[in-house]
This record gives sequence, C-alpha cells and structure tokens, in this order.
Amino acid sequence: MKSIKVIIAGPRGRMGREAVMLAANTEHFELAAVVDYKFDGKQINEIQGFQLPIEVPVFGNLESCLQHIKADVLIDLTTPEVGMHHTKTALQYNVRPVVGTTGFSKNDLEELERICTEKEIGCIIAPNFAIGAVLMMKFSQMAAKYFQDIEIIELHHDQKLDAPSGTAVKTAEMIAEVREAKKQGHQNEKETITGARGADFDGMHIHSVRLPGLVAHQQVLFGSDGQTLTIRHDSYNRASFMSGVKVAVETVMNLKTFVYGLENILE
Ligand code: NAP
Repeated sequence: MKSIKVIIAGPRGRMGREAVMLAANTEHFELAAVVDYKFDGKQINEIQGFQLPIEVPVFGNLESCLQHIKADVLIDLTTPEVGMHHTKTALQYNVRPVVGTTGFSKNDLEELERICTEKEIGCIIAPNFAIGAVLMMKFSQMAAKYFQDIEIIELHHDQKLDAPSGTAVKTAEMIAEVREAKKQGHQNEKETITGARGADFDGMHIHSVRLPGLVAHQQVLFGSDGQTLTIRHDSYNRASFMSGVKVAVETVMNLKTFVYGLENILE
C-alpha cells in the first residue's frame, strides 16, 4: 500500500500526541510535518515528551506548512476557530482534512460541505472517533423509535471548551431523524434555577457535566411507562479514539465528498 503523507495540527495536545504516535507507528502512514504555533522552525523532538526515531519539521502555521510540504491528509486536533481555519486552508491546497476538533457550528459544517462538493474532495469530520461511541449513537437511534422520552447526559474533563459536546449534538441529530419533536417533562414545568433542565433539542434535554478526572463519557436515558433504558459509553483515555482516526485517514483518500460522523464510513 502506498504510504499516506499526514500533517498533524495540535501535536502538543492530548489528542494530538496520540495522533502523532499513530502516524509514526503505522506502516503505511508517513508523518510529514506538524503544525504548532509555539514551535515554528523546530523539529518535533524539541517539543517536550517526543522522542521519535524520525525527523519531523514543525511549522508555526498551516499555510507555510502547505507551501513547503506535500501531503495527502491533515489531521486537525486543535480548537474550534483554529480547526475551521485549518480545514478550509487544507481544502484550498487540495489536502484532505480529517477533523476531530469539536465545536463547529451548523453554518461551518454547511460551508465545508459546499467547498468539498465544489472541489470534489474528501473531508471527514467526526465529533467522536471512538468506535464504541459511534455504536452508542446508533443504538440510541434504534431505541428512539420505541422510546420518545429521552435525556442525554454527556460527561467530560473540565478543560473542554465546547458544551454540549459534539457527540451529544450528533446523537440528538441522529435521534431527531426518527423521533417527532416533543417537549418532555410537565407541560407547565418551571426552572427555579436557570439551566436546571439542560439544553433543549427538539424537546429532548442535553446535560453537560465537567469534572477533572473524566475523559469522554455519555449516557442516553430512555423512559416510558414502568421502564427505563440506559445506553452508555466511556472513553477512559485518548488512545480509544485512534482506531477511528486511522480508519478515517485511510477512507478519506478515496472520498470525493464531505462526511460528518464516523458512523457514515464504518461498514
Ligand atoms: P488540547 O489538549 O487542549 O489540545 C489542543 C492543542 O491545540 C493544544 O496543544 C493547543 O496549544 C493547540 N493549538 C491551539 N491553537 C493552535 C494552532 N493555531 N496551531 C497548532 N496547535 C494549536 O485538547 P484535546 O483534548 O487534545 O482536544 C482537541 C480537540 O479534539 C478538541 O476540540 C476536543 O473537543 C476534540 N476531541 C475530539 C475527539 C474525537 O473523537 N473527535 C475526542 C477527544 C477530543 P495551546 O494549548 O498551547 O494553545
């Protein structure tokens, strides 16, 4: 298999570090460069914690990286604003983005889809690369056909920037495909403390918990007369996301369209 040349933006981050190890340790991947605004002009091994047996240049921004390095795929694991800019820049240079960064708006996603359609180039954005989380979303969609009263509780570490999580929003969107909008709880319920009932998505409620010690967790609770069903997924470390990142990098090479959600590329 021809090797896939990969650039990683955000290599110092918790996800970025795992992605660097994935790219460096996968036989048919080649880690061509990383983008880190704090280490422009350095080598990756000058960043604390890296001791790779290969030389990998660090660029301070993606534009200069793409002007110097020929690559197939950009893996972005940064922040929402930076991630959106990186994704558009990569597409401009005909480099396929695989984006794990969460917090993109509906408008952002629509704009990226438009660019991909115009350019006929692949791009994969997945709010959750853990295969178990994708199954949790699919099972929730199945269950929602039979249980219309649903509460989503997502739990993450306290350094997470966006709320609710991309996974919770994606779960709600998938459920909404099979569930008529319905206001849950008592028709006259009143919050005595604002936000007590969480965010409202088609009448479903989404609750975001932030605590040190957590990584990425979600449970979807379904209720009906005399019974409840709970579907739960837990990621205990960032390595749990990497098998999904690997599949996405391999798949995006053969795509000419925009894909949002790992479930759309798993067989
Ligand atoms: P993190 O540890 O905060 O890492 C983000 C990294 O991006 C930091 O090292 C940050 O550096 C760096 N960064 C910021 N601006 C940059 C720029 N212009 N160029 C290069 N690097 C830049 O966060 P994380 O936990 O790794 O998560 C990263 C993203 O992935 C988040 O959006 C998170 O929600 C998402 N995530 C997705 C999945 C999934 O499966 N899709 C799973 C977990 C997390 P500084 O801190 O020095 O600014």
